[in-house]
Amino acid sequence: MERLISTTDEQALRAILDEAKNVVVTCHMGPDGDAIGSVLATTLWLTRLGKNVTPIVPDAYPDFLKWLPGADRIRVCLYHEKKVRPIVDEADLIVYQDFNEESRMDSLARLVAHNRKARRLMIDHHLNPVAKCDLAFSYPELSATCEVIFRIMSDMGGYEAMTTDEATCLYCGLMTDTGAFTYNSNRPEVFNIIGELIAKGIDKDRIYRNVFHSWSVDRFRLMGYLLYVNWHYLDELHASIITLDAEERKQFGYMKGDTEGLVNMPLQIRGTRLSVFLREDTEKAGRINVSLRSVDDLPCNVIAQECFNGGGHRNASGGHLLMSMPEALDYTRRSLQKYASLLKD
Ligand code: 5GP
Ligand code: MN
Repeated sequence: MERLISTTDEQALRAILDEAKNVVVTCHMGPDGDAIGSVLATTLWLTRLGKNVTPIVPDAYPDFLKWLPGADRIRVCLYHEKKVRPIVDEADLIVYQDFNEESRMDSLARLVAHNRKARRLMIDHHLNPVAKCDLAFSYPELSATCEVIFRIMSDMGGYEAMTTDEATCLYCGLMTDTGAFTYNSNRPEVFNIIGELIAKGIDKDRIYRNVFHSWSVDRFRLMGYLLYVNWHYLDELHASIITLDAEERKQFGYMKGDTEGLVNMPLQIRGTRLSVFLREDTEKAGRINVSLRSVDDLPCNVIAQECFNGGGHRNASGGHLLMSMPEALDYTRRSLQKYASLLKD
């Protein structure tokens, strides 16, 4: 495989790692498989290099990721801010992974900003990196942050020493950010990397089962309800909207991660090119979080930017609205009409 990082960047990274003792590794709020996979892979890797590493995530992450090696070391800022604060204060290196701007760390951003002396390192694959860093590895053309980490480790001659646990975390991120290699993964390198991770002894079938076949009965029931009762199909636009409010969440014993992947499902309908999922925030009243997915060249990040105070990748974006659910549904219906010519293509 060709090198990803320049030798200059490699030297800069070595210098930063050489000087680091206390490292905090973090990711975006609402961590997904790539966020947690990359946080843990880097945690295990830098621990192996002799660093004192603490993985700190902004808020809770899904149960189906808790089996990952090293997950027991993760601190959740939202629930343990007091314990987390001194660890962040003492860090001499803070690694930003799977996000591009400080605000994506939510309340952890404040704690991080308080530590002025620590070096900042970014490893990411989102467009428009704006977070202030001493060194940034930002590769939007790659499938996952875990792919970026794999390539960095390889470029540094670290493949030999990579452990099965590290490889497992990396595979998890690569698998989840590509919908188990069904989108955003049409480059030979992705499959070369899968081969190299399997050679490290990972059990890819078990990783798939642990992540995707770990539903509770409640989750299955909630899914049926959402598709039957809360699913709105805009026939003339071939677009889908699904809603979930706080009351319904309670009714079905909602757990973090229970709606993971739901937004992708309507894209299984022939001719459907856009899917929107509106869900009331679990903590902040009056806030609706928005997920958007599209196919081919339909840029849902443009719609996210123009209508939902957000952004993201061309085919996977997000944002939020400050209004009630009925208002959000109505607003979304009206907003999508503006893209009729795009959607009907
Ligand atoms: P999800 O639907 O999984 O929450 O988000 C999908 C993608 O959209 C994320 O990978 C992230 O890149 C992007 N995204 C989500 N929310 C926001 C947001 O508020 N601002 C921006 N710029 N991107 C977002
Ligand atoms: Mn990612």
